Amino acid sequence: MKKPDIKTQIDGYADIQRENDILRKYALDRTVEKGAVAAAVNRLHPPGLELRVARIISETASTKTLRLVAADGGPLPPFQAGQYINVFVDIGSVRTSRPYSISSPPNQTAYYDITVRRMPDGFVSVYLLDEVATGQVLTSTAPAGNLYHNPLFHGDDLVFIARGSGVTPFMSMLREVTDRGLDRRIHLVYGSRSEDDIIFAAELRERAAHYDQLKVTMVISEPSSEGRDLTGFITAELLAEQVDDLGRKMFYLCGPEVMYKYVQAELARLDVPGRRIRIEVYGPPADVTAQPGWPDSVRAQDRFTVTLPDGAVFTVAAGEPLMNGLERTGRTLNTCCRSGECSLCRTRLTAGRVFHAPGAKLRKSDAISGYIHPCLAYPISDLELML
Ligand SMILES: Cc1cc2nc3c(=O)[nH]c(=O)nc-3n(C[C@H](O)[C@H](O)[C@H](O)COP(=O)(O)OP(=O)(O)OC[C@H]3O[C@@H](n4cnc5c(N)ncnc54)[C@H](O)[C@@H]3O)c2cc1C
Repeated sequence: MKKPDIKTQIDGYADIQRENDILRKYALDRTVEKGAVAAAVNRLHPPGLELRVARIISETASTKTLRLVAADGGPLPPFQAGQYINVFVDIGSVRTSRPYSISSPPNQTAYYDITVRRMPDGFVSVYLLDEVATGQVLTSTAPAGNLYHNPLFHGDDLVFIARGSGVTPFMSMLREVTDRGLDRRIHLVYGSRSEDDIIFAAELRERAAHYDQLKVTMVISEPSSEGRDLTGFITAELLAEQVDDLGRKMFYLCGPEVMYKYVQAELARLDVPGRRIRIEVYGPPADVTAQPGWPDSVRAQDRFTVTLPDGAVFTVAAGEPLMNGLERTGRTLNTCCRSGECSLCRTRLTAGRVFHAPGAKLRKSDAISGYIHPCLAYPISDLELML
């Protein structure tokens, strides 16, 4: 005897089946769409990207732009101007990563440009500038980060203050605004050491000359000759003189730690409230031992023991982020921002003490339960970690 189909005994099942038959005959067959949502989500938010270096553009003596396209020739996920990708590289036996802001605008959908400045003795920037060639495939995270324009909270009158390679997220933003004719005013105040160090100098001057909504003020701290740009540092006096209607502006800061600390104090002198200042921290501090709160008894070169639950024991240096120390031993953590913000590297510390550099956005509950952000955590005693 044929068994009755149990589904037919469910109230309303026959009605739904009839509706589906009609849809299949006269309208969309929904079974065809199965998986379409997952595919779209995956395209917009992929877990990782394979990017081929399509072109390398020399910007200054110390800076190059790597133009990255999807290795499979497919589309790249969209992003907000100001966001970054975290690029993974294998250097010797070490797998590590560094975040780089996308300097191309989001209206240019065929590629992501990243613009890398050489950090003297830098581990990854030197590799990207000296070793990477066109055709090479790099892996990265999808675009991430919070330094982008939010019209509701930031308004349409913006001042970008950058130093060195900190100009890259602003380049993406101002390219988008000028390319698309967006109703937004931008004043870029851009500090460089010398005239030759100004990244995108010609393009910035050209765009500023052509677009009313863009003003660019270059500030050179060590000028080689009498030039057309302002000289010195980005002080309160300079900002008061150059930026009109200060009270209405939203300030975005990006650059090395020393610059944003300095400029923040100058903005405070101008009574700019903290809520009108947005900051992107460019990774760990150059010298963590100079940070307020660093214990006097610990020197950068001191080494501490790390013990893992599997019994592995090794040493790491106090003066570099724990994440780097772990990478040197072949342990690569999940990470995106490497600047204390994204929380992906959150790790349980079961014994010992670390020093968190400023910028580590540790939740109160994490601090109470012993979680740390190894990208900005520095060992200041022997440690036991739950990796
Ligand atoms: C959100 C964000 C966006 C950024 N955007 C840009 C950008 O657009 N352009 C740009 O130029 N920079 C950008 N940066 C900075 C960039 O991520 C790097 O910090 C910078 O390129 C310097 O990296 P580096 O490895 O060369 O230097 P460092 O990180 O200073 O390299 C030295 C460090 O590498 C580690 N190291 C050295 N040798 C080893 C080894 N054998 N194994 C493991 N670790 C080792 C050590 O910890 C040492 O302290 C951005 C940073 C952030 C957070």
